[in-house]
Amino acid sequence: MVTTGELQYYRELKAELPPGIFDLLKIPGLGPKKVRVLYDALGIESIGELEYACKENRLINLPGFGKKTQDNILKGIAHIRSHEGLFLIHEAESMALPLLKDLQHCPDIKEVSVAGSLRRRKEVIKDIDLLASSIQEKKVMDYFVSLPQVTDIIGKGATKASIRIRGGIAVDMRVVSPEQYPYALHHFTGSKEHNTKMRHIAKSMGFKMNEYGLFQEDGKLISCKDEEELFNRLGMAYIPPELREDMGEIETALENRLPNLVEAEDLKGLFHFHSRYSDGSNSIRELAEEVRREGYSYMGISDHSRSAYYAGGLKEEDILRQIEEVDALNHIFSNFYIFKGIESDILPDGSLDYEDVILKLLDFVIISVHSQFRMDRESMTARIIKAMDNPYVTILGHPTGRLLLSRDEYEADMEQILEKAAEKGIILEINANPHRLDLDWRWIKKAREMDIRFMINPDAHNLSQIAYTSFGIAMARKDWCTREDIVNCMDADSMAEFLKNNLHN
Ligand SMILES: [Zn+2]
Ligand SMILES: [Zn+2]
Repeated sequence: MVTTGELQYYRELKAELPPGIFDLLKIPGLGPKKVRVLYDALGIESIGELEYACKENRLINLPGFGKKTQDNILKGIAHIRSHEGLFLIHEAESMALPLLKDLQHCPDIKEVSVAGSLRRRKEVIKDIDLLASSIQEKKVMDYFVSLPQVTDIIGKGATKASIRIRGGIAVDMRVVSPEQYPYALHHFTGSKEHNTKMRHIAKSMGFKMNEYGLFQEDGKLISCKDEEELFNRLGMAYIPPELREDMGEIETALENRLPNLVEAEDLKGLFHFHSRYSDGSNSIRELAEEVRREGYSYMGISDHSRSAYYAGGLKEEDILRQIEEVDALNHIFSNFYIFKGIESDILPDGSLDYEDVILKLLDFVIISVHSQFRMDRESMTARIIKAMDNPYVTILGHPTGRLLLSRDEYEADMEQILEKAAEKGIILEINANPHRLDLDWRWIKKAREMDIRFMINPDAHNLSQIAYTSFGIAMARKDWCTREDIVNCMDADSMAEFLKNNLHN
């Protein structure tokens, strides 16, 4: 198996079962045992058959099932259906970037860019949009559909082609003339709502705007060399792609009041790392060396707490051992500092995983919900609020608990939680793991209006996940955050000072 990636015996066993049966395991709450009952008792071999059986109420009297399970299964199926063919941003990006690189090598292409939702940095992506400029459209189309990663050609015309690539995502590509490129790039970046309003503004100024250009009343093209000039011609400042969701960006750009969005270079340090002490795969030293190599001047280590036994949560004596190790490392490193923390579970009753005497020893405490996600709204809200009342809490980790494309946010009164955060000065995490991207950028806006501040954290469990930070920055930008909104834009000394004074009563 190590040398070939295949196992003959496994293949034979698997071939004895209908292939659709493995899809049933994707439905929340259905494990192998229940799937077996469905297969043996009702002969169900696919999601479609299961859905039909649920609608016929055939699970109600099945041993180990019942009305509630049947309802949950139907909900799970609907969930799966609504997510079919969707990709997380890091998956879409990892497929788009090599493609873009190949296209940059095409001698007939002048300019090429990602457009669409991936350029707007949406957290979930349906397909990749690409735009190129060339005076040799046909040659570009031929080059595009013959790239090695192409698995299907869905359609191919003179200036537009759709393909599917390895990894399963569909890619739409258009070619325009170099003259049309800025207008087309704006148009195909969207969003639709943003474009509609932009066209409206153009019209009110006596212009006509579409993917081919911005035209005077007499049909003469108003020449723009890039997107920035296009925005300027319409009397507004350049709007970064992340903002183009028609959420006030056009009105604000017309008044020239768009904020300076936070940039990757603004982040001075990162928090929320898991080391080998819990479920991470690197030592603290390895993590620190990598974070330092990436140009940051500090990091915060926060392994799992003891209740997260499945993740190797730290017992009190482990924390003491870790504190000693970090102190020793801080002695060795110059120009780099490791802050000591923990990611403490918020227990079902709202208490934290350690007594205050332990929490007191740490520089910061992240609190997160990792279990019992299905509490009712009132209990879940009370649970989180109670935890936030602990005076040692610094950061509320992945505040909504969602896992993109697989688990919805838990039921909780987010407004109440935001109010508590504002009152206590608790930082909300923008967890940059692309499976989470939590806090969601739609909530960040609300929180920002309440003067709540954020921390962009990779929640890294190994060295390569430090790169997740870029997705967190994208979400912060998407919601208009400046460097002032993001706590880890502080330098190391200010951070130390900030954490020292950050006890709440
Ligand atoms: Zn967590
Ligand atoms: Zn974590």
